[in-house]
Amino acid sequence: MTKKPIASPAGRMLHARSAMLARGEPVAPPLVMASMFHLPGAPDAVHQYGRMSNPVWQETEEALAILEDAETVLFPSGMAAIAAVFHTHLKSGDRVLLPSDGYYVTRVLAERFLKPFGIETELRPVAAYANGGFNGFALVHIETPSNPGLDVCDIAAIAAAAKAAGAATVCDNTTMTPYGQRPLDLGADIAIAADTKAPGGHSDILMGHVSTRDPARAALVRDWRRIAGAIPGPFEAWLLHRSLMTLEMRFDRMCSNAQKLAPLLAGHSAVDAIRYPGLPGDPSHTLAARQMQRPGFLIGLTFASEAMAEKFIDGCALIQPATSFGGVHTSAERRARWGDAVPPGFVRLSVGCEPFEDLKSALLAALDEAVE
Ligand SMILES: *Cc1c(COP(=O)(O)O)cnc(C)c1O
Repeated sequence: MTKKPIASPAGRMLHARSAMLARGEPVAPPLVMASMFHLPGAPDAVHQYGRMSNPVWQETEEALAILEDAETVLFPSGMAAIAAVFHTHLKSGDRVLLPSDGYYVTRVLAERFLKPFGIETELRPVAAYANGGFNGFALVHIETPSNPGLDVCDIAAIAAAAKAAGAATVCDNTTMTPYGQRPLDLGADIAIAADTKAPGGHSDILMGHVSTRDPARAALVRDWRRIAGAIPGPFEAWLLHRSLMTLEMRFDRMCSNAQKLAPLLAGHSAVDAIRYPGLPGDPSHTLAARQMQRPGFLIGLTFASEAMAEKFIDGCALIQPATSFGGVHTSAERRARWGDAVPPGFVRLSVGCEPFEDLKSALLAALDEAVE
């Protein structure tokens, strides 16, 4: 009897390991903590040294590869993944285009550590990528929806225009995950993500990955990791693998909570402005609906003042005040505290997996309090 192929990436990922198991092997991947591997004679064993490979990385990369439908290289953080792409795809004299309103550390990395090597950075708001003008860039880096402003840009149009101009397109897909948006399907050459966020999902690990359908790019990035040594710890990789098994469920719950909450928050008098790609009135809505599978779990809320924003965050029983996002618990922070170019009362709310009714009453009660 031949088994029918599994249609969904989530289903294929959940059963990828079982298809290869011999009788008596553990269903969950074993945690292999190893720097040394038994290696007599010629050094041609599957695993040779802990900086080169680890069975847990492979297992986690295979799971991500199924979700991304692309070869995937795992890194110990989102920034390590971004740094790996920059170092392997840029050389002296090259120019890179970065979002001025995206994740700020990416800009810091380029300005502080690429510039001294003669690599120039140009910054542009995510929304302005629509105007094209990619001549002279080696790399066009996009982030959509952007963190924290949640502006959306057209991945397919940008990737096509960048390609015509001779540039490679990299898409930071951290805010969406492969369940919410598929940059490689839309023509991006490379997708990167901080798996620290929703893929890890339990606020206990940092991790990142680079995915690409171009074997030469993947090989470069893999070589970079082996040689530069920015390698994930086996235990953290193991935890990410475990988290990936529930990502689809968690992401679904987070998005549907956010979709139901957004109109309620938008209608509250404490809220001056709201950004959520899933709201029909949002400037990103039309494009988001076309390009994204789901509108995501991040909501941008602007309050009249810093004090009101802090009152909302601190006064809500179901908001964890913390930086980062994508955890099972709802969390929020005022992004201006890190210097992002947003109003002082701007809050990035990461909607979690709490039961919707609990979340609704806690958030609305905190908004009522904030206006008083
Ligand atoms: C968090 C984040 C990163 C960096 O991830 P780390 O795991 O913290 O290094 C990169 N890009 C975006 C969009 C992020 O939100």
